[in-house]
Amino acid sequence: MAGKLYLVPTPIGNLGDISRRAAQTLEAADFIAAEDTRVTVKLLNHLELHKPMVAYHRHNCETAGPAILRRLEAGESCALVTDAGTPAISDPGEDMVALCAAAGVEVEAIPGPCALVVALSASGLPTARFTFEGFLPLNKKNRRARLEALADEERTMVFYEAPHKLRTTLDDLAEVFGPDRPLAVCRELTKLHEEVLRLTVGQAQARYAAQEPRGEFVLVAAGRPPRAEAPDGDGALARAQALRREGMALKAAAAQAAEEFGVKKRQLYNQMLEREET
Ligand code: SAM
Repeated sequence: MAGKLYLVPTPIGNLGDISRRAAQTLEAADFIAAEDTRVTVKLLNHLELHKPMVAYHRHNCETAGPAILRRLEAGESCALVTDAGTPAISDPGEDMVALCAAAGVEVEAIPGPCALVVALSASGLPTARFTFEGFLPLNKKNRRARLEALADEERTMVFYEAPHKLRTTLDDLAEVFGPDRPLAVCRELTKLHEEVLRLTVGQAQARYAAQEPRGEFVLVAAGRPPRAEAPDGDGALARAQALRREGMALKAAAAQAAEEFGVKKRQLYNQMLEREET
């Protein structure tokens, strides 16, 4: 019988955020696949656990992934952890899950810390609908294209960003979204120097022009405000004319079409009158 892959979220800064279930899963698994075994060993020491570990990261996943899969198919259970947060969210865990899914090996995801959720929930921006954009592409042209594609996005947008790219990203956001777009800059979440700045893109640019960005960042940008819908004048006129053809009186047809299309009754009436007189 095939074993199971457990996705075990780990703290994004505060060791107290490891859940009891996550710790129990690490303890019960036959082995742990870790993005960086040096990082994970600190967590295991904190939990007083000693477990066999294998490395699984973006530079070895092509060979390590199939090797882990073979062990799972032979009946072992594996707890997959990454350096911080929820495996498979902007980290190589994604490929391991796909491999298991394709091979019919069961995957169980344990809920837990995830930087995007912590940032979004603290952002003060609308959370009912959002889009997670992960890291923007490194290449300038591709980054720009990705942002341009979001120019009309009305949902709140969440980005992961490295400190050395923060200034460039803020400049790009200012160009595409405008400097007045509300933004939450979430830094060092759950850590000693945690900070959530709720400002505009322009204010964030000014702040980080004066101060070197340090630490880990999540940017949460407000979506574009919905455009006020222009009243559909042509639609109203066509509808009123159709009502006239059905035999309705001019005034009543104008009133009904104006109501249906949210346009001014008097204006529509005059427009129809003009056409009927010519
Ligand atoms: N899988 C992880 C998760 O669930 O959040 C994310 C992994 S991704 C490789 C790392 C990025 O997450 C960082 O570059 C940063 O954007 C964000 N991040 C992780 N920890 C953070 C923290 N404590 N504060 C702010 N951002 C953090």
